[in-house]
Amino acid sequence: MFNKARTKPASAALLLPVVLFMTFCGFKGEERPSEETERDIHKKVLTVDSHCDTPLHIVDKNLDMGDRHGSDWETGCKIDLPRMKEGGLDAAFFVAYVGQEGRDPEGYREGYERANLLIDAIHQMCEDYPDSVELATTPEDAYRLEKQGKRAIYIGMENGYPIGKDLSLISEFYDRGVRYITLCHGCDNDICDSSTDRAHPRDDGLSEFGKRVVAECNRMGIMVDLSHASDQSFFDVLDVSKAPVRMGFPNQKELDLVGFYFRLNRAPTTIRLTSFHGEADLSVSARNRGHGA
Ligand SMILES: [Zn+2]
Repeated sequence: MFNKARTKPASAALLLPVVLFMTFCGFKGEERPSEETERDIHKKVLTVDSHCDTPLHIVDKNLDMGDRHGSDWETGCKIDLPRMKEGGLDAAFFVAYVGQEGRDPEGYREGYERANLLIDAIHQMCEDYPDSVELATTPEDAYRLEKQGKRAIYIGMENGYPIGKDLSLISEFYDRGVRYITLCHGCDNDICDSSTDRAHPRDDGLSEFGKRVVAECNRMGIMVDLSHASDQSFFDVLDVSKAPVRMGFPNQKELDLVGFYFRLNRAPTTIRLTSFHGEADLSVSARNRGHGA
């Protein structure tokens, strides 16, 4: 299904891996590899989970990531340091997910504080377990840490809502380690419209402020994540972004949109994926996946 051509690892943070995308590959006309082969591949490659909501469990349930927890949502979580090691997960984006409240100064302040609380928790975890994990901000960090037997912890921010209308906060979050921002979540915000805001069904896409957010993310080296974005937001961002964008937890619809966009532009319906390990061509098909927490 995909032809792997080894190239130099991507040097820019903007080209962080989409290794997970490869899990979407089917095996058209080929036998699925044995589980042993799959485990072998898993051991050899640098594995990255591009979206873990785990920090909200650290903050809201006071879970210690050094302990092994149950996986139920109410009392446990799906990811902790012992299970990252057992499962051979080399790197993960720990996410500061911020639910959306009012689009007013008080709401923005609370969103900003919540984002920072979650980022604080990620930093604290890295300080508490220096032998197991380290905060990572570049692709090279993951290779370095893998050699040291440590997990690389990247930071993503799910929802641009904590930025409110203050563009300067993007560089502030960058300085705190954030390397991707999911522009919106379940509701429209000042950056763009969401795919699931039932109260505002009209799809206005990316706002003028949102265009400046994308430009600032491009300038800083923060990946723009289009998960949760509306169709129009998706196309608007692709039109203005100067850097590759990401979809951290795409479903069939989002990958269909990618295929549609490529067809509109008279390009093949194949996506060229850049990863830590090179490049791969991937046909546009996927299973719907949830995201880990
Ligand atoms: Zn999430």
